[in-house]
Amino acid sequence: MSKHRVAITVDNYRCHRYGLCEVEAPEVFRLTADGRLAYRAQPSLWSREDVLMAARNCPMQAIHVETP
Ligand code: SF4
Repeated sequence: MSKHRVAITVDNYRCHRYGLCEVEAPEVFRLTADGRLAYRAQPSLWSREDVLMAARNCPMQAIHVETP
């Protein structure tokens, strides 16, 4: 993994598309018009705190984050 990036994976079986992650980190997570969750798998480090907050607040604990 790059030293300048956060690595994200979302468990699609757990995720129920509540969208709280989009509220916490809109630069990384986005619910699409057709009901899917789109996300950047390796955003830059500047979004680290937002991504960690999104993972913490996900009601399904569906977001896994690796940080350098
Ligand atoms: S907060 Fe969790 S359950 Fe909700 S859309 Fe994001 S990853 Fe999915």
